[in-house]
Amino acid sequence: MKAKLLTLLSLIGFTFWAQSQEISKGVMRLNELRKPACREIINIPDVNGYKVLKCDFHTHTMFSDGFVWPTIRAQEAWQEGLDAMALTEHVEYHPFKDFIEVNHNRSYELIEEVSKKNNVILIKGTEITRQTPPGHFNAIFIGDASSYIEDNASEKDEEAIMKAVEQNAFIFWNHPGWRPAIEGSYEWLPFIEDLHKKNALHGIEVINGFGFHMKALDWCVDKGLTVMGTSDIHNLVEHDYDRSKDYVHRTMTLVMAKERTPESIREALNAGRTVAWASKYLAGKEENVKNLFNACVKLLPSHFSQENRDGTKTNFYEIQNNSDLYFELELTAGKGTQKITLYPMSSQLISAEAGQSSLSYDVINAYVRSDKYLNISFGLQ
Ligand SMILES: [Zn+2]
Ligand SMILES: [Zn+2]
Repeated sequence: MKAKLLTLLSLIGFTFWAQSQEISKGVMRLNELRKPACREIINIPDVNGYKVLKCDFHTHTMFSDGFVWPTIRAQEAWQEGLDAMALTEHVEYHPFKDFIEVNHNRSYELIEEVSKKNNVILIKGTEITRQTPPGHFNAIFIGDASSYIEDNASEKDEEAIMKAVEQNAFIFWNHPGWRPAIEGSYEWLPFIEDLHKKNALHGIEVINGFGFHMKALDWCVDKGLTVMGTSDIHNLVEHDYDRSKDYVHRTMTLVMAKERTPESIREALNAGRTVAWASKYLAGKEENVKNLFNACVKLLPSHFSQENRDGTKTNFYEIQNNSDLYFELELTAGKGTQKITLYPMSSQLISAEAGQSSLSYDVINAYVRSDKYLNISFGLQ
């Protein structure tokens, strides 16, 4: 009886094994080698009722000087858990024009449908690639991209950007200072001032890929412009970023939006509710970075009090990071744990001398100006 049962079970087992291997007509399908189709979830709690959308509004494909076809960008965005993205092909630069017909709308059109299926919001955009200085500008929420000016002679700079203004686009200055050897490439030039006055400049890339353009953060703060973080990816994201590290992500903009819709993204960009995020680093206006931090990090009431030999008491606390962001803290006021590293979705123990009402820390991976970290204060209970 037992032997029969064993035979039966092994037969069933073999059948299942054969099915999972899909041996058919002499071909064994090695499906276990395939990467499972799954979308990453980037955990960031809501901030004061706003959803935190993960957005990359600066990417390239072979329709300008990127090395991938547009569908690859759509797949990457889905896999990495982005909420929104834009393809921003250079208007003026098409190194593959002998092989791919120049058409400024085409890359967007090629992934419009698949982005809808994938539940990734696709924003139409383009990169207006002027000489440096003044440099490059991205226009997103654009209309017909074919009406932009391909001639990059500097006397046409203003006219080129005004095309985006006519379309009511959201316009940001890309990677200021990307060519530091060129005089004026990292200055608030009269041309930029003029755009700002005309309401033809709405944001600046503070982090572009692997470059933190620190002066740009001060300009955003001082002039009321929106802080942007983008990948400006030309290659595969997987090729350029070391995503084997758990905190490494493509550089992006965290947009605090009322809803997960293009309209809400636009409203949030106009209102400046953004933080640039590059793996460990955050950069943004103080209010935004602080609100984001407070939504992610919680200090719980003390769970243990220890009597010390000298008669003092030390209280112990748990500090929780409920997000996939990474934080490094250094004590600036009070008597307690000097340095805290908050890894994604984890908690730490800290201690503080009893009898204090608060501890203050600099968050040394979060910049609110080029020379200033976010400083936060924890009330002690
Ligand atoms: Zn490019
Ligand atoms: Zn550029």
